[in-house]
Parts: sequence; C-alpha cells; structure tokens
Amino acid sequence: MRRSNLPKLSLFPFTKEVDNRGHLCIGGCDSIELAKEYGTPLYVLDELTLRSKCQEFQTEFTKRYPDTLIIYAAKAFLNRALALIFKEEGLGLDVVSGGELSVAQSVAFPPDKVYFHGNNKTVDELELALKGEVGRIVVDNFYELELLDRLAGEMGISQKILLRLTPGVDPHTHRYTTTGILDSKFGFPLTTGQADMAVVKAMSVSNLKLAGLHFHLGSPIPDTSPYQIAIELVLRFAREMKDKYNFHMQEFAPGGGFAVQYTLDSSAPSIADYAEAITSKLMSMTNELGLACPRFIIEPGRGIVGQAGVALYTIGAIKEIPGVRNYICVDGGIGDNVRPALYEAKYEALLANRVGEEETMRATVAGRYCESGDILVRDVMVAPASVGDIIAMPVSGAYSIPMSNNYNMVPRPAIIMVRDGKARLIRRRENYQDLMRLDLI
Ligand SMILES: *Cc1c(COP(=O)(O)O)cnc(C)c1O
Repeated sequence: MRRSNLPKLSLFPFTKEVDNRGHLCIGGCDSIELAKEYGTPLYVLDELTLRSKCQEFQTEFTKRYPDTLIIYAAKAFLNRALALIFKEEGLGLDVVSGGELSVAQSVAFPPDKVYFHGNNKTVDELELALKGEVGRIVVDNFYELELLDRLAGEMGISQKILLRLTPGVDPHTHRYTTTGILDSKFGFPLTTGQADMAVVKAMSVSNLKLAGLHFHLGSPIPDTSPYQIAIELVLRFAREMKDKYNFHMQEFAPGGGFAVQYTLDSSAPSIADYAEAITSKLMSMTNELGLACPRFIIEPGRGIVGQAGVALYTIGAIKEIPGVRNYICVDGGIGDNVRPALYEAKYEALLANRVGEEETMRATVAGRYCESGDILVRDVMVAPASVGDIIAMPVSGAYSIPMSNNYNMVPRPAIIMVRDGKARLIRRRENYQDLMRLDLI
C-alpha cells in the first residue's frame, strides 16, 4: 500500500488505504473495482467503522454514566442489514414510522429497546407499535396522548411513554434542522405551561405509564453547550413536577444531533467530548436538585453511520466555462443525496482512481438531475479529472440514501458493505422494472 498524506483522506472510514496504483481502498476493497463490479452511483459502507462507532458511543457514555442505553436513530440510514448490525451491537432503535418499525421487526430486533418517535404518528402506526410491544412511545402532543390512551385501552395494553418536550433552546444549526425552539412542530413547549399540562394528563390517563422525559434540539449540533443548557432546564422542570405532582422521572433522553466532520475546514466535538459534557451536567444537576438518577437514553444517528459511508460516482461530461467555473458532471446527485440542495450541506470529494496526484483542478461536482440546484460539492480541488474517473465523497453514510428518490425516473443506487477485503451487496440497484412495479394502466 502506498502512503498518501492527502488531508482529505482523514474524513474517510478508518480502513481507508491507497494502493500502489493510487486507488482508494475501503475495508480492504479497491473502490475502483467495486465501481466496476456494482456500477455507480454506489454507496459503500465500512462495517468496521460502523461497529466501532456503535461501541465508541456505548463506551464513552457508560464509563461515565453506567445506566445509559444508546439507541440508534434509524432515520439517519436503515435497512435490514444495518438493523441486524445494531441488534448485534446491543443498541436500541429510535424509529419514526411503521416502515422503520417493520424493518426492525423483520430482523427480530428486541422490541423493548425500540422507541417510537414522531409528531404525527397515524392510528395504524400506533396500533402496530402497541401490538409489536415497543418499549416506549415518545408522545409529541395532546391529540396523540388521548389517541394512544384510547388505543391502548381498546387493546388492553398498558404502554410506557416518554413525553417529548421543547425546551426552547436554539442549537444554532440550519433552521430546517432545528427542532427544540419554541416555534417548532415538535413536542410540548416548556415555557408555555403546556409541558406541565402534559405531565398532569399523562399521569392521569389509565392506559399509559409516564416513564420519563425526552427532548431533541436539532442536528447537527456542533457544540456541547446547547445540550447542557437544555438538560438543566428539563431537569429543573422534572424537579418542579416532582414537587407539584409527585412525578418520578425514571428515564431521561436528551436526543441526538451529534455533529461529524464533513469537510476539512469544519470540525466537530468528539464522542468523548459530547459524553463528558452531557453526563457531567446530568450528574451535577440531579445531585443539585435531589433527583434520583434516571436511566439515560442517547439517540445518535449521524454520529454512528456518517463516517462509515462513501459515495462513488462516475464522471461523464466536464464543462469548462472559461473564467467562470469547471463543472464535473456525475451520474448521481439529488436523487441519492439531496442534502446539499436541501440545506446547503457541504462535502469534500476526491478522485478515487488518482489519489496522490496533485489536486490542481478547481471543480464543482454537479449531479445528473434536471435542476440547477443539483450540485453535490461546490469549488473543491481535485486531481485533473477526465471522463470515466471515479469521484468519492466521504461521510456519505447519513441522511443521503434515506432521503433518496426517483426524480427523473432514475433508479436508486446499490449499497454494499465491505469488510476484510470482501464486499457484500446489502441492497441491489433498482432497475426500470422496479420503477414501474406499482404502476397500473
Ligand atoms: C433525528 C433524530 C435523532 C438523531 O439525530 P442525529 O443528528 O442523526 O444524531 C435523534 N432523536 C430524534 C428524536 C430525532 O428526531
């Protein structure tokens, strides 16, 4: 293996290497061979990075606060192979739909470790969750509180719930990914008295058991202080509820939203930094307020899958507009990764078949979809590119495939898992028949 000191490589999965032809290798597999065999766009997941992130979250939190359960936020990226890995790693699962719940059930995920979130769960979804004996349903609003109590009653079930609160803390992320401020569609606001009313209501209904409180501020949160501020607010609220209504908070969940480093000019706290800031605040506040130590629930999504994923694209047209910009057009785009277009997400890119060559070309990586906004990366330095070269985008594991779509009737990419020099297909590429499968004429 050839050494390359290209700084961008640090963003790729732990197992990345560069072979002596200058090819990027992941999990012991040559990315150029993978692109040839499986076609592009191709999503490559590195199993070792994925598993080590699961373990890192578990270790960093439980060594500071033993009674912690890490539950993976499925919406960041879920399919059956991934669900099986999270089950094997002993994580819980945060699901937000009947679909995600069904994937979990299809691999016999332990239902007691499943937490069901969402601001507008349907009757069918709530019934599926009750029937599937999910561990907790995280109730978002008064309508749902009444509905769930009625459904549980009809089914003769006593369901444990958490209440989702909106602490009114701005995590300073993109406004589309902010959830914990007062003006949010999520949760019971703390500052309006509605959270208080929700506790009273949840303690008084017959078929629900209020196990604890939950909040989630948004994502990604590149700083630890919003968590600390919100933890203090919600624990003070828990103390108030104890005094007023004898409420005992057995569980407490400060959400997910842990940032990862996407580009060289950005940074993110380490998992240990988050764990230290969050658990130390939890312990000092429970102590100060005289609250019993609750079971602690942490919900990372991006922090677990982000770095494990690499997207591979093939370069087709290259358009040089003199004095303006070089467009490198690839065979994917907003169909498989809408994040740059949706909320200005930034990525790095490199030529996977020319790693180590000097990066002298300033380029904008454009997708193949019929939208001007279909740009994956703006102004990135790459080796001089030509038709047929392979572009690799690191940190593509979170929120790309889950938001993928069939815009322009383009089939969705294949996904492979790599480990120890072996690649296995965990989702085959869609074909044109798949696109028409549900059509009737
Ligand atoms: C999306 C979400 C998460 C995970 O967010 P990440 O940024 O992927 O860690 C956790 N909890 C809730 C309630 C969410 O909606």
